[in-house]
Amino acid sequence: MSTYSVPAGLCGGIRWRGANATLTVADESGYEHESALEEGRPLRVRLGSSRFCVGVRQDDRRRCPHGNHISRNTSETQCRSCAATDPGRAIARDAVVDPRPFHLYLAWFGPGLLKVGITTVGRGHNRLAEQGALAFTWLAQGPHEVIREAERAIAAARLAPERRKRTTKLAGLWDLPPAARRRAELEAAYQQAVRCGGWPSALEPLPFHEVEHTEMFGLDRLPSTVADITTLTPTCVLAGSVRTVVGTELVLDTDDGPTMLSGRLLAGWPLQPTDAAPVGYRTTPRGPGEHVLF
Ligand SMILES: [Zn+2]
Repeated sequence: MSTYSVPAGLCGGIRWRGANATLTVADESGYEHESALEEGRPLRVRLGSSRFCVGVRQDDRRRCPHGNHISRNTSETQCRSCAATDPGRAIARDAVVDPRPFHLYLAWFGPGLLKVGITTVGRGHNRLAEQGALAFTWLAQGPHEVIREAERAIAAARLAPERRKRTTKLAGLWDLPPAARRRAELEAAYQQAVRCGGWPSALEPLPFHEVEHTEMFGLDRLPSTVADITTLTPTCVLAGSVRTVVGTELVLDTDDGPTMLSGRLLAGWPLQPTDAAPVGYRTTPRGPGEHVLF
């Protein structure tokens, strides 16, 4: 097996560009290289001896000005200082108004698992792909403040929450109804949201149009169970070949069987290509019914 050409550097996690998932790695200057995570490509990397803050993006670079360490095995990828100054997080906590136009969307993660959210129009479908939405429809577009107001109204009416846990989303992957039922459920929720009322006049409603990600995520290649990596330790070695990428969950074929790795768990670790054997991580099984444990 040849070594996958991930450049050495600090992992920034998994990102989607249109229909392609990429692994981002920042070099010493903070410049982010993106490597396509195509099916069958080998990935063999050794992690560094500690995990670092991924920093704040500025122009085409991203780095932590303090070089701070962060806790291992959490989905938090920034130090407190970077989290406080990150423009994206300021928007998320309503601390600033973004001048760009926004989309309001309804995402579907499995039977009964809807979520309402917002994303800049310029990001297209990428945010939905990165969230792992199996299907979605736009609801409306407009200025940030009015789109955010509509999002809160839908959440307050308990039609769909603004957040979904990772474990909830993962459970949906093994509970996929036929395409017609997925579409019917999303459309019914769309109609309810439209009837929710009280939307500001500056908001432009958009017609129902279901976009599916099940094929793009290669869910037909998802094994019946996977070993989900829960703990990464310093200098551990990950080795396998890409089976598929669902949202920011990387599914690898390894010598020990199918293994799932969260891009958010990997972000912040320095990566170095290696030919060493895999070692140093812990897993828990995931598959149909596993969600009852949580
Ligand atoms: Zn930082």
